[in-house]
Amino acid sequence: MREASYYIKQEDSVKCVLCPRDCVLKNGEVGFCKVRKNENGKLYSLVYARPVAVHVDPIEKKPLFHFLPGSKTFSIGTAGCNLRCQHCQNWNISQAKPSDFSDRVLEPKEVVKQAIEQGCKSIAYTYNEPTIFFEYMIETAKLAKKKGLKNVAVTNGFIHQEPLKELCKYLDAVNVDLKSFSKQFYGKVTAAWLEPVLDTIKTLKEKGVWLEITNLIIPSVNDSDITIKEMCEWLKENVGVDVPIHFSAFHPDYKFQDYPPTSIESLTNARDIAKNLGLNYVFVGNVFTNGLENTTCPNCNKLLIDRRGFQILENNMFKNTCRFCNKIIMGVF
Ligand code: SF4
Repeated sequence: MREASYYIKQEDSVKCVLCPRDCVLKNGEVGFCKVRKNENGKLYSLVYARPVAVHVDPIEKKPLFHFLPGSKTFSIGTAGCNLRCQHCQNWNISQAKPSDFSDRVLEPKEVVKQAIEQGCKSIAYTYNEPTIFFEYMIETAKLAKKKGLKNVAVTNGFIHQEPLKELCKYLDAVNVDLKSFSKQFYGKVTAAWLEPVLDTIKTLKEKGVWLEITNLIIPSVNDSDITIKEMCEWLKENVGVDVPIHFSAFHPDYKFQDYPPTSIESLTNARDIAKNLGLNYVFVGNVFTNGLENTTCPNCNKLLIDRRGFQILENNMFKNTCRFCNKIIMGVF
């Protein structure tokens, strides 16, 4: 066990201040995320160097489309999560306890070594919610940065500002899962609340971390045109029209077995709302339909990156510009 960052000792308890849940834990108690424990007045991370998922993935799988396209990313995740999304598509690890898994140990320096050996350009903190394995993520990210690797995270964005700002020193790109723009949705479906997620998005932008957004669309639950429009307007106003947004298809999972998969029409409808508001890079994910995951130049409208699944079939970028009209394309290329 590794002593946790971001907690306050109290008379007969500790208060974890890593995420807005602010769990107050008596001796022996474990937080809502299941991975942070009060042991005799000190808060410990139960998942430091204890990943339960380790894979080499295409960066496109995160999804990050405007960040080192075509590169491999060494991806790690642990048990636990600070949300309770009823539609979670990784619930078998996110809703599990560390003790549900074997005692596999992978120290930060070993993560970095393996990433380099496997030809990865980055390390991705992903699969479950990475901010709850904050200490493991930041120690790995520091070492990775020294070795010239980039660091990327795929997060629900439900974290306090102070730890987030510390993370921003080491993260190069982040995909924030903005689950809806509805407060009711957050309360009922995720057991969290929206405002801290919006604050996270604004801070990532301010700190210069490359940002992409995912919005998973669940039929009849969070697919209203009005809410999608409000979300896109907020993004446009707060992080600009060049933030890539991925409208992603839901499939029945965990406690949402009775909802149908998202139709292509629903996803393209969301895409059209975003595009009509002027967002430049709008993608449809999880359906692998030709043409919906391509980057086109917002100036000359020519095809820049042709994607199929997680593969790149054609790349017409010249460094960070469109090779046809020289427009600068926002991202890290
Ligand atoms: S990180 Fe975990 S223990 Fe800490 S406040 Fe959030 S849910 Fe609670």
